[in-house]
Amino acid sequence: MDEHKKLLNFKRLEKLSKVLEKNRFETFLSEDSKSAANHVLSLIGRNSASGATGAVSYTNGQNKKIGLGGSQTVRSLGLVDALKNAGNEIITHTPEMDKQTRIETWLRAQTADFYLASPQAITLNGELILIDAYGNRAAAAIYGPKKVILIAGHNKIVKDLNEGLWRIRNIAAVANNIRLGRKNPCVISGKCEDCDIESRICNVVSILYRKPVYTDYLIVLVNEELGY
Ligand code: SF4
Repeated sequence: MDEHKKLLNFKRLEKLSKVLEKNRFETFLSEDSKSAANHVLSLIGRNSASGATGAVSYTNGQNKKIGLGGSQTVRSLGLVDALKNAGNEIITHTPEMDKQTRIETWLRAQTADFYLASPQAITLNGELILIDAYGNRAAAAIYGPKKVILIAGHNKIVKDLNEGLWRIRNIAAVANNIRLGRKNPCVISGKCEDCDIESRICNVVSILYRKPVYTDYLIVLVNEELGY
């Protein structure tokens, strides 16, 4: 990416980080996805010794339970394999699971040590917006896990709630419909048609105006375009 644009995006993230802190969220600002992933890994399962090279290494057998929403951002950071390799248990649904198994998996994820997800939009006022088909991810990102880690690239920044609500329906949801191979109307037209069919994925929207009182958060802001 053009260096000037990169600097501009970093400044926007820097400002957003301060606003989020004002809203009582803990934040971590990262130049790129590699340092973001290292920070998350170090938080979840760090080997206390960083070694002579300064490279962080990770112990096996951390045995933390990590709930995971269907986040492309989390996956693009390579966190799923890295966390598994460090001996943690990843709790997430898979396409072949039946309804009952999914529900049980989501309930377990809700009480995990950490829950990893990505918001679909963050406003300049530091409000985080998530959209969901089943509500499991939106619920776990509000209450239940010991710590919620939300990771977002600069592409998730929006001016305000109106723009955020537009973004989640017309960009995030459409891209996810395409990824999931759904034949919903937005896939044909390229914009939300507010469909009323069973395969609709936009059923729940949650907005975090401020940090929910009893939930610990880390919002990781990454100076890259990540996810939808
Ligand atoms: S409401 Fe329906 S048409 Fe609109 S983005 Fe969601 S799935 Fe697509």
